Amino acid sequence: PNGLSAADARAEAARAYELDRAHVFHSWSAQAEISPMTITASAGSYVWDGDGKRLLDFSSQMVNTNIGHQHPKVVEAIAAQAAKLCTVAPHHANDARSEAARLITTHTPAGLDKVFFTNGGADAVEHAVRMAKLHTGRPKVLSRYRSYHGGTDTAVALTGDPRRWATDSGTRGVVHFFGPFLYRSQFHAETQQQECERALAHLEQVVAMEGSGTIAAIILESVPGTAGIMVPPPGYLTGVREICDRHGIVFIADEVMAGFGRTGRWFAFEHGDVTPDLITFAKGVNSGYVPLGGVVINTAIAETFAHRAYPGGLTYSGHPLATAAAVATIRAMEDEQIVENAATIGAEVIGPGLRELADRHPSVGEVRGVGVFWAVELVADRATREPLAPYGSSSPAMTETIAACKSAGLLPFANYNRIHVVPPCTVTADEARAGLEILDRALDVADRHVTGER
Ligand code: PMP
Repeated sequence: PNGLSAADARAEAARAYELDRAHVFHSWSAQAEISPMTITASAGSYVWDGDGKRLLDFSSQMVNTNIGHQHPKVVEAIAAQAAKLCTVAPHHANDARSEAARLITTHTPAGLDKVFFTNGGADAVEHAVRMAKLHTGRPKVLSRYRSYHGGTDTAVALTGDPRRWATDSGTRGVVHFFGPFLYRSQFHAETQQQECERALAHLEQVVAMEGSGTIAAIILESVPGTAGIMVPPPGYLTGVREICDRHGIVFIADEVMAGFGRTGRWFAFEHGDVTPDLITFAKGVNSGYVPLGGVVINTAIAETFAHRAYPGGLTYSGHPLATAAAVATIRAMEDEQIVENAATIGAEVIGPGLRELADRHPSVGEVRGVGVFWAVELVADRATREPLAPYGSSSPAMTETIAACKSAGLLPFANYNRIHVVPPCTVTADEARAGLEILDRALDVADRHVTGER
């Protein structure tokens, strides 16, 4: 698909790999222990590796190519913007940025109509937290365990999963609480309703013990993503909203991964019927074709900075190429009913298909999700729910299962003891079924580790 002969494509990929190993320093990795897959081309739901092999991309790379790979309207918009105007300082106005901000806010609730652009998700979180602290004059931020908010200092401190451990500098003012997760309930709950009630009572206690007047914000992924795709029970988000309202706390919805169609709605908080005060976004806003993130700000918080300078900025805030890509992405998502497709595929193909796999495979503890946002949680023992890999690391069983997916032509998103099924929102029913068939066979590998039949 990239126009090269098979031999030339292989030679180019081999050179890319060699230079990568010589000069590229990779994220979250022991540099000498990795062997990155070379990606040479992509289209729609597929990517091609260095051997010219096609893989169904059930990772959407970093769960961001919601519109699929190389969408022609977005590629064209970037090229047209590049020909017209490549860069502009953040303090000037620009049509691509203005239109992107307008379009984004047509999909946010009334009262959230100002956008601060960043380069990605972590800096969106940094700025949302800074805005909340300055708006309230309070020092603390609460976030849940089993969450991810980014790799920069405050964002990683807010993160509630093992990626925080190695870099945690004990950032002042960060407090963690437990969110609802029935499969591994901290509250000894047996139903979603109990889990919801007890998780809210726990949060209320944390707020009381910390001193509600010291808490600037509660930040939550509306549906936690890399930490395990735990769709909150009905009533949880409205309960959090109510706690925030009662104590003057800013509610930040981190929609970096769940936003822009991933859950079958434009924003995942829509499932919970709540209106956040600040929304962080990135990834799906332009499907990652050019780096972009941001914060959508409500009127009250925007007012704080009406006659008081907002202390913060980025050289590339609202970069023309990135925002032109966002405009084209959002328009294509509207015109081609891509969000609706994500909802339908989740409800009709992926959800039922995964539940059926869970019934048949002893290694599957639970499947859960919504839209094109699903987690398959693998366990060594269904009765005890012991994970198939320890929290924060992998295991031979997981590594071999993921390798089986890849060798059969499926690229999944894997984290610890979970395989995430997160294809582009544009995935077709046939592609989704084909991916689940490969996953089905790969899970036999995990089963053999669990049952001891090797
Ligand atoms: N928040 C959430 C919910 C995320 O999933 C991520 C990225 N996975 C981030 C923040 C950080 O985004 P970025 O990697 O673009 O900094």
